[in-house]
Amino acid sequence: MNSFDIETLAVRAGYDQTQEQENSEAIFPTSSFRYTSAAQAAARFSGEEKGNVYSRFTNPTVRAFENRLALMEGGEACVGTSSGMAAILSTFMALYESGDHVICSQSVFGTTKVLFNKYLVKFGLEVTFVSQTDTSEWKKAIQPNTKAFFLETPSNPLTEIADLSTISALAKANGCLLIVDNCFCTPILQRPLEQGADIIIHSATKFLDGQGRGIGGAVVGSNELVDEHVRGFMRTAGPSMSPFNAWIFLKGLETLPIRMAAHCQSALQLAEWLSLHPAVEQVFYPGLKSHPQYELACKQQSAGGGLVSFKVKGNQAEAWSVIDHTQMVSITANLGDVKTSITHPATTTHVRVEPDARLRAGITDNLIRLSVGLESIEDIKADLARGLDLLR
Ligand SMILES: *Cc1c(COP(=O)(O)O)cnc(C)c1O
Repeated sequence: MNSFDIETLAVRAGYDQTQEQENSEAIFPTSSFRYTSAAQAAARFSGEEKGNVYSRFTNPTVRAFENRLALMEGGEACVGTSSGMAAILSTFMALYESGDHVICSQSVFGTTKVLFNKYLVKFGLEVTFVSQTDTSEWKKAIQPNTKAFFLETPSNPLTEIADLSTISALAKANGCLLIVDNCFCTPILQRPLEQGADIIIHSATKFLDGQGRGIGGAVVGSNELVDEHVRGFMRTAGPSMSPFNAWIFLKGLETLPIRMAAHCQSALQLAEWLSLHPAVEQVFYPGLKSHPQYELACKQQSAGGGLVSFKVKGNQAEAWSVIDHTQMVSITANLGDVKTSITHPATTTHVRVEPDARLRAGITDNLIRLSVGLESIEDIKADLARGLDLLR
């Protein structure tokens, strides 16, 4: 399978057909598995014989999803988890201990910050947050006990790009692992393992599913880090992916290449259109030449992605008015769906960030985030124009 292109891997990799000769992958909704004898049960439990034991850690549908995603990311191993947050938690519980220090981009997903600041610190993990784009801050933050760098690129909602080759070289030179949350790009647009990352985190909830149906996550990387350590934690602590969800994500992966291409094409057109609209102050999209890191984005990603953010001329009232004048797009904070979603970060996804810190991070009250879906681009524009045209 390794020699196939990613579009083929997305459709065919990772699944062993059963004796029923099904063409579409089967779901195995079973909690345990039967053995032919007591001796076989013993061999499975000791690990002497490979095979299914118990669906907390071995399920054929989950394994198919894991195998497929691992191949698509170019990693040796993958562990499916019950959510994207469970993927991050499992990685840190498995690989780190009290007294270890992590350097994390300050632009990561808000809940990831809460996980570090409120919970992982309880177990003695130290975390320093640094700029997504200023690599010198990463260098300055390194301590003798620094063991991991964590980031996601592009950032949400301002689409700032972290420089993967510079940051991964810094991590390597200092004996640290680079962990990248690849939720926004997916392996279709960006393969961080090829750019020096050691571990990939996914929220399968977003583009991998692509139709907003289920919560799940994944960790991808080497056999030693992921199959041995992260899977070891997962099988013990149990934040496991359900077979039903694994099946949804498995089928989601099949259309991921064409969906990402369509998301990116519409997002670029919408970003260009918004840039020209007189009621728009600024547009954030890595595929626009006006993006301050356009060159870096082109180097790391094959396209700009599905998220576009923009500031309207005005304040919160004007931003809310644009949102409230939509009739078709979904007012929801989810992203990566075939349905376009619109959200006001300052009062939703980033409301728990202190107002000062929020402003410093550029999340102003006139900022709107779009996750561009697969509806007609003209219908999406018309839906946004209704509110925007009133602001003139
Ligand atoms: C949504 C999201 C997560 C968390 O994933 P869940 O599946 O909701 O737990 C992590 N990272 C990023 C970048 C996300 O967008």
